[in-house]
Amino acid sequence: MVGTYDSGLVALSIVVAAIASYTALDLAGRVSIARGKASWFWLIGGAVSMGLGIWSMHFIAMLAFDLPIPVAYDVPITLLSLFSAMVVSGLALFVVRRPAMTAGNVTVGASLMGAGICIMHYTGMAAMQMSPPIQYDPLLFVASVIIAIAASLAALWIAFQLRQKYSGTAILAKLGSAVIMGLAIAGMHYTGMAAAQFAPNSICLAADAAGGFDNARLAVAIGFVTVSILVVTLVISAFDAHYAVHRAKLADALQLANEQLRSIALHDKLTGLPNRFLLEDRLEQAAAHANRGAKRFALMFVDLDKFKPVNDTFGHGVGDELLKAVARRLRGSVRKEDTVARNGGDEFVIVLNEVRDGRDGALIGGKILEELSRPFRIDGHDVEISCSIGISVFPDDGTDVQTLMVNADKAMYRAKQSGRNKYEFFVPGHGVAFPGAVQ
Ligand code: GH3
Ligand code: MG
Repeated sequence: MVGTYDSGLVALSIVVAAIASYTALDLAGRVSIARGKASWFWLIGGAVSMGLGIWSMHFIAMLAFDLPIPVAYDVPITLLSLFSAMVVSGLALFVVRRPAMTAGNVTVGASLMGAGICIMHYTGMAAMQMSPPIQYDPLLFVASVIIAIAASLAALWIAFQLRQKYSGTAILAKLGSAVIMGLAIAGMHYTGMAAAQFAPNSICLAADAAGGFDNARLAVAIGFVTVSILVVTLVISAFDAHYAVHRAKLADALQLANEQLRSIALHDKLTGLPNRFLLEDRLEQAAAHANRGAKRFALMFVDLDKFKPVNDTFGHGVGDELLKAVARRLRGSVRKEDTVARNGGDEFVIVLNEVRDGRDGALIGGKILEELSRPFRIDGHDVEISCSIGISVFPDDGTDVQTLMVNADKAMYRAKQSGRNKYEFFVPGHGVAFPGAVQ
C-alpha cells in the first residue's frame, strides 16, 4: 500500500521545523546567559516549547501523509512521542548551556539527541497501530538515524557558536541556520517515512478507536497553536535579552562608580597621588612583605621648605600648581613599585620598597633634592623651592609602621632645624627640639 503527500501540509511542516529551529538557537543564548533559577526556567520552558515545535513538524508531516484507508493516531502513544521531543530539546539546551563545548560532550549530546528524535519519530509512527505492523527498509531506516544525528550535531555546533550573539549578522546567520536545520529535521522525517512499508491489506487499529477526523484541519490547527507558542517564546526571550543587557549595563555602571568612589577615597584630589589612607595600607603591605622575606624598606618624609611664602607671593593657585609639579618630579625620581603619597599640606611621603640599607635612601634623597633644585615655571613665574627629607628604615628604625612614621618625621624636623634643603636619617637619641618638648 502506497501513501501520498499533501504538498501544502508538507510545506507547513517544514516552516514549523524552521521556526522551531530558530527558537532553539535563540533559547541556546538565553539558557547560557541566565543564572540560577532563571536558567532552569529557560531550560524547562525552552524544552517544552522547542519540543512542541519539533514534534508538531513531525505530526503535521504525518497528517500530510495520506493512506487509502482511514488513519488515526493513538493518543497515549502520540503524547509519548511529544514527550520524547521535549526530553530531546531539554538535552540539547543542557549541552549548549555549558560554558565550553568539547568534542566529547557535543558528540554524546548529538548522539542522544539524534536517538531521541528517532524515538519521537518511530513512536509517532507506532501510534498508527497498523496491522500487520509497518515494515521498515533497513537502509533507509539507518539513513534516517544518521540524518537525525548529523542534524543534531550541526544544530548543537551552530547553536553554541551563535548562542550569545545578537548583532544583525548573527540574526541573519541564525535565520539561515534555522532554515537548514528545519530542512534537516524534515529530511530525517521524510527519510523515515520512505523507510516505512505498509502491507497491501493493512488496517489502522487506531482509526477504529478514534473515528474519523479531517487531517488538514487538524494539521493547520496544530501548526497554528505551535507557531503561536513559539512566537510567544521568542517574544519573551527578546524581552529577557533586552532586560539582561540593561541589567548588565547597570551592573557595569555601578561597578565603575564603585571603583571611582574607591579611587576618590584613596587619592589626593589635587595631585592624584595616594592619600594618607592608601599610604597606611601600602606601608602595612610593605612591612608584611619585608617581614616575610627578612628585607628592608625605607620611609621618607618630604616637606617643602618655606612653601607658605610661595602662596603669599604668587597666590594659592600657583601654590597648588607647584604642589602638582613637585608631585610629578617626586614620582619621576622613584621606581614604579615605590609609593609616593601626599600626607597633607606640603608634606609628601615616599615608601621605597626593598632597599639594601640607608644608602639607597640617601641615593634617592640626593636625587630628589637635585630634581627640586631646578626652578618651576608656573603661570609665567619662575618659582624656586627646596625640601627637607627625613628617612627611617624598616626594621632598623622601627618594627611597626607607626614608629617608623614618627621616626621619619623626627628626622625630617632635624633636617629643617639644621638648615633645610637636605636629607637626614633617623638617629636614635637625636630627638627634635619641638618648642616646649622635653628632650
Ligand atoms: P617649612 O619650611 O617650615 O615647612 O615652612 P612652610 O612655609 O613650608 O610651612 P609649613 O610646611 O608648616 O606649611 C605648609 C603650608 O602649605 C601651609 C598652608 O598654607 C599651605 N598649604 C597646605 N595645603 C595647601 C594646598 O592644598 N594648596 C596650597 N596652595 N597651599 C597649601
Ligand atoms: Mg613646609
